[in-house]
Amino acid sequence: MPENCLFCKIVRGEIPAEKLYEDEDVVAFRDIAPQAPLHVLVIPKKHLDGPAAVSAEDEGVVGKMMRVGNEIAVREGFPQYRTVCNNGAQAGQTVFHLHMHILGGRSMAWPPG
Ligand code: 5GP
Ligand code: ZN
Repeated sequence: MPENCLFCKIVRGEIPAEKLYEDEDVVAFRDIAPQAPLHVLVIPKKHLDGPAAVSAEDEGVVGKMMRVGNEIAVREGFPQYRTVCNNGAQAGQTVFHLHMHILGGRSMAWPPG
């Protein structure tokens, strides 16, 4: 529900966040509990519960999330990075507003835990 959604509150400026990028479609801000030297979250301003809620009309903004995430990573000095989009609690999703993690600045293990 957008009224009570943590990331909708960040979009509306009701909760502070260290925003690195914002336009009419997306916002990017630093994760509050960084798991790597670079840990940024890129989200659509439109509330979508997660990857499974993306419909054809949202495809453009999801592509923009990836482009913006790459530009931020390069600008921040971490051109090699991992993107993560968790879908559902079993996959590790804890905030049910679509977000793409950008993690960089350290070696990554595979498979992820
Ligand atoms: P998920 O586990 O849903 O894929 O990722 C949610 C992410 O949101 C976590 O990495 C968590 O640290 C981050 N997070 C949770 N609450 C806040 C907050 O209030 N501000 C910011 N900047 N990040 C948050
Ligand atoms: Zn939301």
